Amino acid sequence: MASTPERSAQDDIKIFFDRAADSLGLSPGVRRMFCEPWRELRASLPIRMDDGRVEVFIGYRVQHNAARGPYKGGLRFHLNANQDEVRALATLMTWKTALLDLPFGGAKGGIQVAPQELSEAELNRLTRRYTQSVQHLLGTHRDVMAPDMGTNAQTMAWVMDAYGQAHGYEPAIVTGKPVEIGGSLGREAATGRGAMFVLQEAAADLGIDLRRARVVLQGFGNVGSWFARIAYEEGAQIIAVADHVGGVYNGDGLDIPELADYAQHHGTVDGFSAAEPLAAADIFDIECDVLVPAAIENVITEEIARRIKTKVVLEAANHPTTPEGDAVLGERRVPVLPDLLVNAGGVTVSYFEWTQNLQQFHWSEEKVNDELRQRMVRAYEAVASVSSRDRITHREAAFTIGIERVAKAAMLRGFV
Ligand code: NAD
Repeated sequence: MASTPERSAQDDIKIFFDRAADSLGLSPGVRRMFCEPWRELRASLPIRMDDGRVEVFIGYRVQHNAARGPYKGGLRFHLNANQDEVRALATLMTWKTALLDLPFGGAKGGIQVAPQELSEAELNRLTRRYTQSVQHLLGTHRDVMAPDMGTNAQTMAWVMDAYGQAHGYEPAIVTGKPVEIGGSLGREAATGRGAMFVLQEAAADLGIDLRRARVVLQGFGNVGSWFARIAYEEGAQIIAVADHVGGVYNGDGLDIPELADYAQHHGTVDGFSAAEPLAAADIFDIECDVLVPAAIENVITEEIARRIKTKVVLEAANHPTTPEGDAVLGERRVPVLPDLLVNAGGVTVSYFEWTQNLQQFHWSEEKVNDELRQRMVRAYEAVASVSSRDRITHREAAFTIGIERVAKAAMLRGFV
């Protein structure tokens, strides 16, 4: 999570945290405990590159809080994956798992690397070196990893294998792994599907007919492309999509299965012929019913928030809206469905995968999707109800619910 020039990513999260902490009346000591991660590790990761050189990468694992259960959080490969960003993302995981009422705490890992510049063999060696460095912090009842930006099911398979070499067969040590080695059906699509479940519930409250809704999407990776596929199947018109290279627009609705096929072969949506080209930077200028940031953080700034023309923002990415952007959207009365809730489908199905692994038992995809829907709907209802009861935004309500649950668990366990 790149910080704004003036503040770190952790400072940004703290602005939202403080508002919820004020409304909950948290004591200064408890606030301080929640603002400091429980444990952090920084590791130097030397690996041999394919050309024989030794390259050294820097990796992190931050364990923020485990009052409600084992640490849970993704592993990100990105050049911005510095200690501050990983810390902020670990903190968000604590509130997110609590909001979804999952028996987990919050953690995050990252390696500062541009994964597209490494070969498959180099990525394999880097993932193994990282796992060796952090393995003493991991455990199926201690800290469980999952994929995030720049990592995927294959990365998790390497983590599982490297961990297993030291500790024996433990498939529950990672989630989001390939189905053939214990991954859960439905996990790959879970974050996009969960976002769609939240949108369906909110659309009913906001009076938006999703079968006619025009959707604009930034990001067409795991989250964005699955969200698009599911929204398309439900009849929504995805009229514009942008990624890190470029964008495409079709006022009659893009053919999402064809676009997904194109993006898989070309690594971008840019150049897709059944659409007009669009500069990536113009994605937020297109009028729509639902705007979905599903790429990176800090993209809805104060300036962008003044320009966007949508009935609702569905935050599928983590921290896509700066606090200033959030304030402008609030002034303009544009409803924002917050990341803490919207993208929690991934960690929810990760929880299902973990439980299946611990029991050595498999659920059908139908059961996974049905249980996911129930969890997402319950969380949305809790957020909507606190939001209308306390006359606060959905984001403030999501933070309040998550923080209150963690504070309660910490107190019951006698942390403080
Ligand atoms: P991904 O790496 O699969 O895809 C990222 C997408 O964003 C790609 O289409 C890429 O081209 C695009 N992108 C990158 N930089 C961009 C830029 N500057 N402008 C426009 N587009 C850009 O990542 P993902 O797993 O889909 O994750 C996307 C977001 O969702 C991240 O914020 C991640 O933390 C969050 N998230 C992911 C999961 C999950 O299960 N994968 C779960 C929860 C939250």
